[in-house]
Amino acid sequence: MKYYDQHFHTFLSFDSEEKFENYLKQQPEVFVPTDHFDLNNAGTGFKDDIPDYLALIKKIAVLEADYDTKFLKGIELGVVPGQEAEIQDYLAKHPYDLKLLSIHQNGAFDYMDDIVLKKDKFQIAKMYFDQMSEVLDKFPDGHILTHFEYGLRRFDFSAQELETHFEKELTAIFKKVINRELALEINAKSFGHYQNAELYRYAVPLYQSLGGKLFTLGSDAHVAEDYRLLFTEMADLLREFDVKQLVVFHGNDREFTELP
Ligand SMILES: [Zn+2]
Ligand SMILES: [Zn+2]
Repeated sequence: MKYYDQHFHTFLSFDSEEKFENYLKQQPEVFVPTDHFDLNNAGTGFKDDIPDYLALIKKIAVLEADYDTKFLKGIELGVVPGQEAEIQDYLAKHPYDLKLLSIHQNGAFDYMDDIVLKKDKFQIAKMYFDQMSEVLDKFPDGHILTHFEYGLRRFDFSAQELETHFEKELTAIFKKVINRELALEINAKSFGHYQNAELYRYAVPLYQSLGGKLFTLGSDAHVAEDYRLLFTEMADLLREFDVKQLVVFHGNDREFTELP
């Protein structure tokens, strides 16, 4: 099997209009949309952003008749401490094959909101990593930890600053990721748009030094043109650190694939 994109958004996300059919023009072997699930989302005026499960099931049923592609159900779970039981409850009734674990907001603001610019960048980063650490302790579900630097994107952070100020936090986070056998995502929005490849060049060997071996690539596309965005470039970054395989998830099963 060839590696396929394990992070992209469709009309089932609050921030995308894209049709399944437009992604399917790229003829992926496996199609797994990962739409946004964020309860009490500070990024959208405290709405419960939940992808329409019935619409997903129906859409897949229709498309399965017309395409050779294998269809899986994915979701990107934004988690705020305190929401764990409610999210687990929801997932028990709405099964998914691929679950991304993300930290986007903290119940008061999204880490990408302008409001963070009024605060000290080290304080925001500490708050963000502490939330991630707590979520890794208290929320037991998920396959992939996405965009580890989401909470830093509105600031300029160097790899040196991460090492000096947050090596302890990131070491604790990566140990939890490894113990839980979650994969670490290389995210194309981080890599391209937010120009944070250097932060991954710091994080990848740190994660490896602790025993981390599971990597994924995610375009985080919100339009079909961005499907598999920067996959060659991100795979080249992993090659710098001798990574030879990526992992794909399907429920409790996982499979290793070649780097693209
Ligand atoms: Zn995200
Ligand atoms: Zn996303």
